[in-house]
Amino acid sequence: MLKSRTMWPPGGWQFLEPATGWNAPEGLTYDQVVRRIIAHRRANRQYRLATDYDVVAQQLDDYTCARLKNDPSWCVDSPPTSFTVPLPRRSRRAEVGGVAGGARFVASTSAGIKLWMDWFGEGKPVEKSIAERRATICAECPENDRRRGNIFEMFTVAAAKEIMAIFSALNDLNLHTSKDNMLKVCQACDCPLKAKVWAPLQIIKKHLPEERFERLHSACWIRHE
Ligand code: SF4
Repeated sequence: MLKSRTMWPPGGWQFLEPATGWNAPEGLTYDQVVRRIIAHRRANRQYRLATDYDVVAQQLDDYTCARLKNDPSWCVDSPPTSFTVPLPRRSRRAEVGGVAGGARFVASTSAGIKLWMDWFGEGKPVEKSIAERRATICAECPENDRRRGNIFEMFTVAAAKEIMAIFSALNDLNLHTSKDNMLKVCQACDCPLKAKVWAPLQIIKKHLPEERFERLHSACWIRHE
């Protein structure tokens, strides 16, 4: 949470609307950016994004702290954001209650904005043609482990819920590939491929440890893009 909404943070008040790719204009005050976001959302009602002033103001607050990585000079009482590719927990079968609540999380929850930024940075998901090409490679890759069970059998409950929230957001944004039903979890990097194929390459590479990069298949798109 921001210490102040009147003191200008590094880089000013920025905001990316992931659903549309729209960026708030530069040089505005906090209040002005909130009102611009609301106006933009009202002009794009098909995405059913929040337009209540207090909700949007909080989203800009959360977005700013996520962008500043909760710098204690600017933010208080917010958990640090980090890209956590959760490690599989193969032996545990977990409860699955409440998963559907992840739908439309980008628009409706503060945690959703942080989570989205962890996966997609301050940019948008890649173009469909790119995701489709990646999905085609992953679908045939021996590292795509199609024998394993569902997400909740492979990951901790918290991690699985995060993954399902990402899936829900992608579904809300109508981001699908023709190979979705063949995309499981990559054994080399332990990532859910249905989401990974949409992530910007620079974000993937930034968070992929060297030893995991070396485990990727020789034909992997991450190696060749
Ligand atoms: S190694 Fe690369 S191509 Fe193969 S499943 Fe993993 S991400 Fe996809």
